[in-house]
Amino acid sequence: PEHLVIVGAALAGLRAVEAARRSGYKGGVTMIGAESQAPYDRPPLSKEYLAPNAESGAPELRSAQSLHDDFGADLKLGVRATGLNCAAQQVHTDHGALDYTALIIATGSAARPTPWGDPLPGVYTLRTVDDARRIRADLDNGAQDIVIIGAGFIGSEAASAMHRRGLKPIIIEHAPVPLAHAIGEEMGIACAHLHRRNGTELRCGVGVGGIEGDDRVRQVRLTDGSALPADLVIAGIGAAPATQWLEGSEVKVDNGVICDETLFAGAPGVYAAGDVARWPNSVFEKVMRLEHWTNATEQGKAAAVNALDPENAKPFQTVPYFWSDWYGNRLQFVGIPEADEIHVASGSIDSDCFLALYRQNSRLVGALGLNERRRVMKLRREIAQNISWGDAVSSVS
Ligand code: FAD
Repeated sequence: PEHLVIVGAALAGLRAVEAARRSGYKGGVTMIGAESQAPYDRPPLSKEYLAPNAESGAPELRSAQSLHDDFGADLKLGVRATGLNCAAQQVHTDHGALDYTALIIATGSAARPTPWGDPLPGVYTLRTVDDARRIRADLDNGAQDIVIIGAGFIGSEAASAMHRRGLKPIIIEHAPVPLAHAIGEEMGIACAHLHRRNGTELRCGVGVGGIEGDDRVRQVRLTDGSALPADLVIAGIGAAPATQWLEGSEVKVDNGVICDETLFAGAPGVYAAGDVARWPNSVFEKVMRLEHWTNATEQGKAAAVNALDPENAKPFQTVPYFWSDWYGNRLQFVGIPEADEIHVASGSIDSDCFLALYRQNSRLVGALGLNERRRVMKLRREIAQNISWGDAVSSVS
C-alpha cells in the first residue's frame, strides 16, 4: 500500500502533508518529529514570544488532532529518524522502522552549538520553543546584563525583544559588518545603524574568547582582551542542516540534502524540502539552500506533489523572500544579494523607511526594504518575471 512518510514535523513537513491530501492522495501518511510539540511556528520565538506575559504555549501551526481528523495523518512526536535504507525503502527511527513508498526529508536545521566549552546555565541558542521558554524564564527572573553573540537575524531580533523589555543588551559581532553575506555590505551597515539608532550597543570586528562562570554565566571574554558581565547570553551564530541521520545512505549530503530541480533527492521516492534542501533554482541559475519561512512553505508543497507523481514532477523555482522585525520596523528582502550595484531607490538608509534595488548586469536580482511592505512584494513578482534594471528603477522612483 502507498505510504507517504514525512521526517520532520515542522513547517515544511506540515505543508507537505496538507498538499498531499489537497492533491487527492488517498494513501497512508505518517509524520515523525524529534520534538515533543505538534508543528509550530518559529518566527515568533525571537519576536513576540520573548515579550513579558506572552502566551506560554508553542505558537502551534496545526494540532495533532487536526492532522489526524482533517488530513488522516499519523503524527508521531518525540521520534527521531536515525537512518535511511533506500533499497528497502525504510526509515529507521529510535522507535523502530517505517516502510515508505514516498518520503519527504524535512528535518530543517539546528542551531550551531556554542564552541566555548559546555554551555553554562544562562547560555542559550534560539531555535526551538524550549530554547525560547528558557530565555524568557531568565528574563522574567530578572536577568539584566545580556550579551548577544552574533548580529544576524536571530541575534538582532532577540536584541529588539530585550529592548522592548527596557533592557540594554550588547551585541558582539565577529565580522566587521553584520549580515554582509545575506544582504551585502552597504545594507549591513544600514542594519548596524538601526541597532545604534535604537540605543543597542553593537561591537563589530571582535570575537568571543570564552564564557566564564560557575553555576551561572558571569562574563563573556572578548578577543580584544576586554570582558562583559553577563547574566544571560544568547548565541545566534547560525544553523546547520539536520542531516546526520542520512549518513551512510544513498542520499547525498553536502551542506544540505542534494536535490535536483524537482527536489528529488536521488533515491526512489525520496524528496526534500525546507531548510534542509539544496537544489538548483533556475530563476537565478544557482544552487541554493534557504533558511526562510516562505521557502519551507512553498517547497513543502512542491516536494509532496512531486513525490506523489514523480513522472510529472515540476521544477521548483522561487524568488527567495524573508522578513525580519527590528524595533517595530519590518525589514524584507527578496531575491539574491550578489550584486554589481545596490541602488537606494527611495528613502535613505539612515531613516526608518527605504528601498534598495540590487542589480546584476542589466537585471534586477534583489530588493531590500525597511517598512516598504507593498513595494517589496511587488518587486518579488517582477523579479520572477525577469524585469530589467531600467524598468525596475523607473517603476519604483
Ligand atoms: P525546521 O523548522 O528546522 O523543522 C525541522 C524539524 O525536524 C524540527 O522540529 C526538528 O526537531 C525535526 N527533526 C530534525 N531532525 C530530525 C530527525 N532525525 N528525526 C525527526 N525529526 C527531526 N524566517 C523568515 O523568513 N522570517 C523570520 O522572521 C524568521 N524568524 C525566525 C526566528 C527563529 C527564532 C528561527 C529559529 C527561525 C526563523 N525563521 C524565519 C526561519 C524559519 O523559521 C525556517 O526557515 C523554518 O522553520 C524552516 O522550516 P523547516 O520545516 O524546513 O525546518
